Amino acid sequence: MNTDIQSLIDQIDSREGELLDLLCKLVSFRTPAPPARNTGEAQAFMASYLEELGFSVDRWEMYPGDFNVVGVLKGTDSEGYKSLIINGHMDVAEVSPDEVWETGPFDPVVRDGVVIGRGTADMKGGLAGALFALKLLREAGYPLPGDITFQSVIGEEVGEAGTLDCCKRGYSADLALVVDTSDLQIEGQGGVITGWITIKSPQSFHDGTRRQMIHAGGGLVGASAIEKMMKIIQGLQDLERHWAVTKSYPGCPLGSTTINPAVIEGGRHAAFIADECRLWITVHYYPNEDHETIVEEIETHIRRVADADPWLRDNHPQFRWGGKSMIEDRGEIFPSLELDPTHPGVRLLASKYQAVTGQPAVLSVSPSVTDGGWFGHEGIPAAIFGPGKLRHAHAINEQVSIEELKDFTRITLSFIAEWSATRK
Ligand SMILES: [Zn+2]
Repeated sequence: MNTDIQSLIDQIDSREGELLDLLCKLVSFRTPAPPARNTGEAQAFMASYLEELGFSVDRWEMYPGDFNVVGVLKGTDSEGYKSLIINGHMDVAEVSPDEVWETGPFDPVVRDGVVIGRGTADMKGGLAGALFALKLLREAGYPLPGDITFQSVIGEEVGEAGTLDCCKRGYSADLALVVDTSDLQIEGQGGVITGWITIKSPQSFHDGTRRQMIHAGGGLVGASAIEKMMKIIQGLQDLERHWAVTKSYPGCPLGSTTINPAVIEGGRHAAFIADECRLWITVHYYPNEDHETIVEEIETHIRRVADADPWLRDNHPQFRWGGKSMIEDRGEIFPSLELDPTHPGVRLLASKYQAVTGQPAVLSVSPSVTDGGWFGHEGIPAAIFGPGKLRHAHAINEQVSIEELKDFTRITLSFIAEWSATRK
């Protein structure tokens, strides 16, 4: 069949109902994380959708009840033409029972030019649009010489990095498009790493010994881990301020490199001097930085803070960085992603954006984090590009504009067709 791209793009208007049905279907699967472990049905639907489009599907359980799905559509000339990964997460932000939605978060409603439901913006809209673009291309028998890999992953909302799992399984391409919430801007991102700082006393003391520990002539060398943590927090604030005045990155507001003391735990109960205190911090860094260096900067600074204190000097704080899951081990990493505006894939995507919308594409840095960083970390060129606004993501009555969803589908369709037909 010989169909030109414009006629396929035109079908997105006349077949809008099918696109919205697909989005509503995805939203109706209850996949909030936490609690997670609930993507089996949704990912089975995804797998069969991809199989119907001719993809060969790889499906594996990453956690009990949570499956990654990767479909590969072998190109007609894989060796000669550019390959593409389209990546999105099937899990959505958590909902609490007391939230008041127009309908239910998983009973999507279409009205006044928007679709409302959990995940419409973040990011089942992106998944639905990209799937529908592929459906139109496949139905028309449109030639796709390069390989196309579609990754529907789990765990993004809780730092479980289904995308990293796909990379480790060997999936790679000349470009990865992460179709997460970007309001159709083409984005890179800064990175995030969480960490635990623990102060632990080698002895524990009765509350009644405090006088001896803190007053002249008391003779008891000891400390409250909670009070010593105050010095560490002060040290972190000093470093945060130092970063704010010395670091910058084009497209990021100054001072985006923050260290948030997010959670503190410590002490046994009121009859003890606190012999342990744990601080959970969230660190944001710029797209051209990596978490290994950031961790080193923080540890070096905090060690110096500790060395300036007579008790901490001998009882250095311990660090535990990152983690594989906010649920399983209370930690996560989202590596940064630098967007290369000169990359041929990024330029092609920008030109398709302009062709469809009549406006120049906006290249920017996401104020949030996505799985895009894992591609950057693994050396796969990547861009974040998806429908939906960040202020709607994770919000009550989360929604996506139907016009924006259709523009996304048009742009993605024409991008896939041309990228797949671009010589390596
Ligand atoms: Zn997302």
